Amino acid sequence: MRAKKKFGQNFLVDRYFISKIIKEINPKEGNNILEIGPGKGAITEPVLKKINHISVVEIDPDMIKILKHKITPKKISILAEDVLGINDEFFKKFNKIIGNLPYYIATEIILKLTKIYSSPSELYFMVQKEVAERITAKPSNKSFGRLSVILQYYFDTELLFELPPVAFFPQPKITSAFIRLIRKKRISPKVIDKDSFEQIVKIAFSQKRKTIKNNFKNILLDKDFLNLEISPKIRSEALTIDQFIKLENYVTQNNINFDC
Ligand code: SAM
Repeated sequence: MRAKKKFGQNFLVDRYFISKIIKEINPKEGNNILEIGPGKGAITEPVLKKINHISVVEIDPDMIKILKHKITPKKISILAEDVLGINDEFFKKFNKIIGNLPYYIATEIILKLTKIYSSPSELYFMVQKEVAERITAKPSNKSFGRLSVILQYYFDTELLFELPPVAFFPQPKITSAFIRLIRKKRISPKVIDKDSFEQIVKIAFSQKRKTIKNNFKNILLDKDFLNLEISPKIRSEALTIDQFIKLENYVTQNNINFDC
């Protein structure tokens, strides 16, 4: 059966990398694991060597047929759906969500899970290397941007290792990376309004090469930067996550309108 491009199907075939992935996920009895996009079971089957049951979400009926053939029904709960259409409540019961994500919607999936606040404490995903770099980048790194700030507010993120195209079939044109996101037990300092935070981060990175003064033109005045103790001359990529939080707190507390 041919891999379907429209579903982002690049199957893991390299045993060395598969065992590295399983080692990082470290499935243990008591873990309630959900896998997104199990495909033919390259990760699913070795996980089931460590625990008795797994839940999976897979959009492609052909993959589901293969999985049903390979894995006994009592060990697997299969949801034949588009992961992006599933109700948030569903994800809350899992403490680990894993997957070699379809790259065309990887960021969307991760952002969806981020916003489910009491959702799983650990996420293990394969994504495009550039996306992994953006998710894990620290301030002043060229990859530091909107995705870094939003995700690192909620999670401790780490790029665990890279995988070359030859680890997959068919081989993708890009390098991949395996990442871990561990939800923070306690967030401190905290944002006041999560939607404003997202909006502010969006504005901050709207023109990456410009200074924050420029990106917040008509929103923040020189006196605001003074109060915030943030130089207006720096670029947003130089701000720390705590400074972004401070910025949101300030804007929200002072009722500053940024809906322009
Ligand atoms: N886990 C397998 C592996 O590593 O070999 C397959 C990974 S492949 C990169 C991505 C998988 O996600 C495919 O099985 C694909 O059918 C499935 N998929 C694509 N879009 C999906 C969606 N919106 N919801 C659920 N599964 C999806």
